[in-house]
Amino acid sequence: GRKVNDGTLAHENSIQLQTRARQRVPGGVHSNVRLSGPQPYVERGKGAWLYDVDGRNYVDYLLGQGPNFLGHAPDAVLDVVSAADRRGLVYGGQHALEIEAAEAVCAALEWPDMVRFGVTGTEIVQAALRLARAVTGREKVIRFEGHYHGWLDNVLVAEHDGAWGVASEGQLPHHLDDFVVLPWNDAEALAEALRRHGPEIAAVIMEPVMINAGVIQPLDGYLERVRELCTAHGAMLIFDEVISGFRIGLQGAVGRYGVVPDLATYGKALGAGGTVAALVGRRDVMELFGHGMVNHSGTFNGAVPAMAAVTASLAVLREDPPYPGVERHGTALMAGIRRLAAAHRIPLRVEGLPAAFHVSFGDVEVTDYRSLQLLDLDRYARFSEVLVRHGIWVAPRGIWYVSACHGDDELDAALARFSKALVAWSG
Ligand code: PLP
Repeated sequence: GRKVNDGTLAHENSIQLQTRARQRVPGGVHSNVRLSGPQPYVERGKGAWLYDVDGRNYVDYLLGQGPNFLGHAPDAVLDVVSAADRRGLVYGGQHALEIEAAEAVCAALEWPDMVRFGVTGTEIVQAALRLARAVTGREKVIRFEGHYHGWLDNVLVAEHDGAWGVASEGQLPHHLDDFVVLPWNDAEALAEALRRHGPEIAAVIMEPVMINAGVIQPLDGYLERVRELCTAHGAMLIFDEVISGFRIGLQGAVGRYGVVPDLATYGKALGAGGTVAALVGRRDVMELFGHGMVNHSGTFNGAVPAMAAVTASLAVLREDPPYPGVERHGTALMAGIRRLAAAHRIPLRVEGLPAAFHVSFGDVEVTDYRSLQLLDLDRYARFSEVLVRHGIWVAPRGIWYVSACHGDDELDAALARFSKALVAWSG
């Protein structure tokens, strides 16, 4: 039976496993992002729920950092994947599912002509940058404060006293030399940078809705202006939709805000938990891969489980769209959290889209990375541990993801647990 998550810390099995893991795995984790994430060991997930090895359950609003948009272990996807897997996992040759998956992506997004599949968001971003440089014959790229484009040397950045530099020991600082870092949501800053560096700029890459640093939406007219500026200066506009893609609508940010980039990257929700990423664009641009002029490779690109996951995931998204339900749950949850916080006189800020929103302490208007820093992000990180102890699976950085499986039962459970966590936090 389900145990009640009463906020106590009896996680004996988890602690035992963590101790064992740390003997063989640095930090006990395989991604540094998880060093500070929820620490209970997961036994299994189903729908919107996670179950740990100590018999506790959690309403999951982390969703594997985004991929589980159809919930954990979605039957409609798993059935297709396991049937396909029986015919082999990776061929080193072409197969029909690759075409089906590519056709499904183009049909869902409508604007692109062609697709290249990869495995992770990190590497598909690299393919986009290389392609943009090849097409334009230019080297520099404009990117934005607080946007995340993977963990490799040329895109990982951290702020040091107002300047942007390496974020890791061992990272080569000169790999950042070809990037210009600008504040986002500031069309004038982009116009100015393009006036100054225009003929050198191969691409402007951004999260079209800034989910990695709080969930910040583009200001009215911003993306349109970015589009105009890129066109005027001959720079490729790349939307990194690894988080927003297939989550904030079938057509991601492009559909939501109506601005079409030259290239876009997808991952996470695309495969409903399957390991897959995609780069899409117009035929004339994408064909540089096909002509062999631009290299994009990978042993596991187009592997069977990934292609099956994409076709099955997109079939669900198109035939039985979860978006209205996700919006409903997210809207009610955001309102419920605000209501509880007000009742407990705790200054929580809840902002963003229903499919992905941000919870933090503070009361400021956030439009970019700098205004986000005015929030008390450390305080929320501590509060997130209380939430996990009370049966709500969330990350310390305050971004909540909603899935197709979050319904009324999950809403009731989440708000009841949130209320108890607030009592524990303020008491
Ligand atoms: N781009 C964006 C916008 C992301 O949010 C992420 C991951 O969080 C990535 C790229 C990197 O994707 P991955 O973690 O699959 O390498």
